[in-house]
Amino acid sequence: MTDTLFPQKTYPTLPVKGETAAYPVHRIFCVGQNYADHAKEVGSSVDTEAPFFFLKDASALVPSGTDVAYALGTENLHYEIELVLALGQPLFNASEEEAARAIYGYAVGLDMTRRDLQAVAKKKGRPWDFAKNFEESAIIAPLTRAGDMDALGDQRIWLTLDGDVRQDGKLSDMARGPAEVLSYLSRFYRLQPGDLVMTGTPAGIGAVVAGSKVEGGVDGLDPVRVTFTD
Ligand code: MN
Repeated sequence: MTDTLFPQKTYPTLPVKGETAAYPVHRIFCVGQNYADHAKEVGSSVDTEAPFFFLKDASALVPSGTDVAYALGTENLHYEIELVLALGQPLFNASEEEAARAIYGYAVGLDMTRRDLQAVAKKKGRPWDFAKNFEESAIIAPLTRAGDMDALGDQRIWLTLDGDVRQDGKLSDMARGPAEVLSYLSRFYRLQPGDLVMTGTPAGIGAVVAGSKVEGGVDGLDPVRVTFTD
């Protein structure tokens, strides 16, 4: 082992239902505007030519069930409920069939977004990093192995804010499903076990404040729960 000047960071992990070993998280890819109703609510439409992506550092991950401090540098912190894919095998230049087989499992996650900073970035043609990639911006529930749930179809994806339903869609409303998203990504990255993909959010995005309780789910998966604090 090489001596390091300060303790070396280790990969964060996600628990897996029915498994004692945890899933070590390497990278977090995120799909933008993958539901038509959400693309419309942000004044856009699904790009018919190709999906687009942004990334979050693995260090942005926080497990479901913990309190999360309201993010720094924003006055408009938004929730986005998403289905999360977890890869179990490497993928490079993969077909959709190969991509589908490489999915280890699924989870429910929140892609927290500093919407005011994103608006500035969009207007000025700047990167989205400050809007999307910050501490505790990826809040993710435990993984369920792919074989332990029904095949993906019209499962409901939903989110409540302080008990009121704010997002309510179906996975089948995704413009591009998991296999298509992974196949496409694998032409640009040598994907690895440990890579997660957040697959986009349905309509109904909105702001949280200190004290907000957010819960979200997908049929057949453990829900994500978080309370925001000052
Ligand atoms: Mn998102």
